[in-house]
Amino acid sequence: MKTPRKRYVRPIDFKRGRVDMTHGSGGRATAQLVEELFQEVFDNAWLASANDAACFAVPEGRMVMATDSHVVSPLFFPGGNIGCLAVHGTINDVAMMGARPLYLSAGFILEEGLPLADLRRIVESMGRAAQQAGVAIVAGDTKVVEQGNGDGVFITTTGVGIVPPGVNLSGDRCQPSDRIIVSGTIGDHGVAIMSQRENLGFSTAIESDTAALHGLVEAMLAVAPDLHCLRDPTRGGLATTLNELAGQSGVGMLIEETAIPVRQEVAGACELLGLDPLYVANEGKLVAICAPDDALRVVEAMRKHPLGREAAIIGTVQEDAHRFVQMETTFGGKRVVDWLVGEQLPRIC
Ligand code: MG
Repeated sequence: MKTPRKRYVRPIDFKRGRVDMTHGSGGRATAQLVEELFQEVFDNAWLASANDAACFAVPEGRMVMATDSHVVSPLFFPGGNIGCLAVHGTINDVAMMGARPLYLSAGFILEEGLPLADLRRIVESMGRAAQQAGVAIVAGDTKVVEQGNGDGVFITTTGVGIVPPGVNLSGDRCQPSDRIIVSGTIGDHGVAIMSQRENLGFSTAIESDTAALHGLVEAMLAVAPDLHCLRDPTRGGLATTLNELAGQSGVGMLIEETAIPVRQEVAGACELLGLDPLYVANEGKLVAICAPDDALRVVEAMRKHPLGREAAIIGTVQEDAHRFVQMETTFGGKRVVDWLVGEQLPRIC
């Protein structure tokens, strides 16, 4: 990397400073913020080249691209913050196509007055998350809106990745008798956020599960290259994801309540808050649909991975012209698990 030119009178004061309108002007203050924060933390040749776009070579194969905006409130929560969440969220959308994520871009909308210390913490968390995932943040943008017109920071990330040959994951590939697998406990992220907002003051904080899932996906594909679908049950939770897949594939689904892993603290908090864990967001979990012959092998492989230790088969795909998702309840009855109606948890991611 080139030694940065010393063209600023003094370095940015990340301890006491705040975002002001000049940071989004495109002038000297913007350049200084880019150099002293984003280039410094994300530290790669593409950002250091200081061009308006990143130019990179890609391996042969099919490319995947996904984008996601993040507006979570509060910005910091147990288990993470908006920064690592913005990296994980987009990596996971790329990974759900069976792709290895390679590059990310990040767009920041900053609110005037945001402490620069908070911004730096968020950016450092993004840098760590990207590095751990083996992904480079190669392009970005920063805009500033007047105080009162934003809420600290909003982050949009876009990711690209490459799908290995022979992998063909798609939400329309669920077939009757396929098994439905979930990678672990549901509802952790949504409850972690809500318990902060509602100031529930649990003795042990429930942590967000925010994590990058492409390593887990790789382990699954290694034992079952013909996985049918993967999807991350984020906003709207497990119930919404299953309804999406059932709709896309033109099938029904039957899940078993007792088979669905839910942490006791999460179940308790949901009861208190009047939430159904089936509809609560996750940021480090996936749903997999595979042929019945692959199911045990896939679950076994998942349980060997740190992000799949509590993986479980939770149900079966069925023929159903109505495309209903149904659940056998703990008490033996059956009920329809419908799409989320309205907005249960605003600004959860
Ligand atoms: Mg997704």
